[in-house]
Amino acid sequence: MSQQPKDAAESLDQAFTRTSPYGSHAEPTYSGALSFLRRRYTKELEGVDVAVIGVPYDLATTNRSGARLGPRAIRAASASLAWCPPYAWDFDPCERLNVIDWGDVYFDSGRPHLVPDQITDAYRKIIASGTVPLTLGGDHFVSYPVLRALHETHGPLALVHFDAHSDTWEDSDGRIDHGTMFFHAAKQGLVDPARSIQVGMRTHNADTHGYQVLDARWLHAHGVDACLAEIRKRVGADKCYVSFDIDFLDPAFAPGTGTPVVGGFSTHDALQLVRGLAGLQIVGMDVVEVAPAYDHSEITAFAAASIAQELLAAHASRFPDRPRAG
Ligand code: MN
Ligand code: MN
Repeated sequence: MSQQPKDAAESLDQAFTRTSPYGSHAEPTYSGALSFLRRRYTKELEGVDVAVIGVPYDLATTNRSGARLGPRAIRAASASLAWCPPYAWDFDPCERLNVIDWGDVYFDSGRPHLVPDQITDAYRKIIASGTVPLTLGGDHFVSYPVLRALHETHGPLALVHFDAHSDTWEDSDGRIDHGTMFFHAAKQGLVDPARSIQVGMRTHNADTHGYQVLDARWLHAHGVDACLAEIRKRVGADKCYVSFDIDFLDPAFAPGTGTPVVGGFSTHDALQLVRGLAGLQIVGMDVVEVAPAYDHSEITAFAAASIAQELLAAHASRFPDRPRAG
């Protein structure tokens, strides 16, 4: 399904030479401008369906920092995926949807207390244009300012959350911590725990705060299909946000992350789970916690780029009638 670009000039640096926002074209994987999946790098949101946005923030980590370099690593890894659509689907999500790479959110890390609002402000403008954000973290805290912006347009969302950690530990207001933001999100009504589900946990948290929790023992025992049935039952046709912390994967499949926990899942499990989200009404999604300094052979970055690509396809599955633009 890969197509050759119409002229040679388009076969390099598609991030700024492509003439159409649609389609997947071959480009040497080892060179060129590293936008996510070689999508156009632009801040223009007219007609854009999905904006891939980097949030290179990692000041909320509680263990090893380094996720600020996650967006760059995921974009680089995506170069090897960009020449053709993901194989498990019978369509190219980038032919159905106008997907851009918006670049990274700017914030001043020397004024950390201002960062959450800076992130929310940037997303508010993107979401107001009707664009669905696909965020590349950054540590997991970044989901919280994104959810605040989404809530302004969509109201309380269902959350579908893959992680080794619940990230719902109790906290006082205003703290910036990547282990507590889904506690705050529930308390503030950004997400509705009664329609939300957390999958893959292998750390102790006595309080679910109303979320449905399928921990790692449950998922290992019952498997992917049973998990997907639970997700569908919980979320139904409601608007949802899909948040994928890369430490959902076992450290064997994702060593490059700040707070790895053994006993997790394979990349195959993860891809099957994300594929199974097809048809959900996804209004935002993220892949977070990739910390390249602890990675080996880009294992973690490849996993994250692939999961992000499959999320795009799962979202695009809802739009079978979108005319293929030339
Ligand atoms: Mn997390
Ligand atoms: Mn985690």
